[in-house]
Amino acid sequence: MATKLKMRKGDLVQVISGKDRGKQGRIIEALPRENRVIVENLNVVKKHQRPRAMRDSSRMGQQQIQPGGVFDVSAPMPASNVMVVCPVCNRATRVGYEFRDSKDGQVKVRVCKRADCGEVLDR
Ligand SMILES: [Zn+2]
Repeated sequence: MATKLKMRKGDLVQVISGKDRGKQGRIIEALPRENRVIVENLNVVKKHQRPRAMRDSSRMGQQQIQPGGVFDVSAPMPASNVMVVCPVCNRATRVGYEFRDSKDGQVKVRVCKRADCGEVLDR
């Protein structure tokens, strides 16, 4: 069964396993279908790139050349390796869902699962 990704682009997350364990960063891309996230400046790999013409350059008018070299790029990491950091209590937490009243009726919101916090994560 596929579980829905609880992280979103822009979330601050803490890495709980792997080489970047303990570090925090912001999600720059969520990949729900792969259950992975790309976190800014984390899980950085060296990418060796040859100079080459960019494939989709035709749209841009003239052809563009991508320069070669070694780049640091953030690689996608499994979403299970990170936890969302609650912006209210500042701790890595699991994410729960609750229904809250709003001007548009009941809305589903993400909440901090810490027992002594429980605050809404999105604001
Ligand atoms: Zn919290």
